[in-house]
Amino acid sequence: MKKYKYLLTLLFWLIPISQSFAIEALKLQKVADNVYAIVGELGNRTPENLGNNATFGLVVTSEGAVLIDSGGTYKGAKEIHHLIKSVTDKPITTVINTGGQDHRWLGNGYFKDQGAKLIASKKAVEDQKARTQDQFIMLGNLVGDEGIKGTDAVYAEKTFDDKLVFELGGVKFEISHTGQAHTPGDSFVWLPQQKVMFTGDIVYTQRMLGVGSQSNSKSWINVYISMAAYKPKHIVPGHGQATDLASADADTYDYLIFLRESVSAFIESGGDITEIGSVDQSKFSHLLNYKNLAGRNAQQVFTELEWE
Ligand SMILES: [Zn+2]
Repeated sequence: MKKYKYLLTLLFWLIPISQSFAIEALKLQKVADNVYAIVGELGNRTPENLGNNATFGLVVTSEGAVLIDSGGTYKGAKEIHHLIKSVTDKPITTVINTGGQDHRWLGNGYFKDQGAKLIASKKAVEDQKARTQDQFIMLGNLVGDEGIKGTDAVYAEKTFDDKLVFELGGVKFEISHTGQAHTPGDSFVWLPQQKVMFTGDIVYTQRMLGVGSQSNSKSWINVYISMAAYKPKHIVPGHGQATDLASADADTYDYLIFLRESVSAFIESGGDITEIGSVDQSKFSHLLNYKNLAGRNAQQVFTELEWE
């Protein structure tokens, strides 16, 4: 009898925890009136976070809501929508994909089913198409078959070259693609009235950014400068909590400059790529994922610098 009671108590605690787990992985952060950051985990994709290991943006207007980035999977998109419903019952009329990374666009199918219009830069859609298969393989490994169930490659139907401006319910949106950054088609979304900047993968805070084969660290710095020129009051980064420009500078811009300067100096001193691990990046060891990414970033920048 005692055992039975214990089991019941255990069940009572376990059931609600498992049901709300994926939802709790996302946190809503108010940035300005009707403007929110939806902050996902800072680590890698897992079956629990459904590929939502990133930060997304939400703007609620009188004529509907605009979502910046649709999440990493169909089920992940549903979790984002669930959280959005806690602040508005307005339909999501528009989804902007700020880049080609999986968590920027693989939730598109879910939101298109809800009637949303999808917008992305031409370069982002090209990049998504080129890497769809790789991204599905990677998500299958990290999130698992159950987690990616329902996810399809759904591309934005409305695309632009370098700038798209629109208004919804009196709120102005300016989307700009100024070059390759973390991915070839990265864009930032500016709200001129609220002075809020959604940066997608152009800005990482709290965690170390990743320079991959789809990135260009030199161009990334220029893209960052073009974004910072708007003097945003609030930054909603692609990874990390909403913050200000100073902390975006510290965690993204300063690191990119430091990384390129350090690897340059390493090459000039005759360093060989096999010893790239000796480049000292401990100045940025406070950033999450430092151990996994610092060496890889240096290696990627080494390869880039060889071709510049
Ligand atoms: Zn990302």
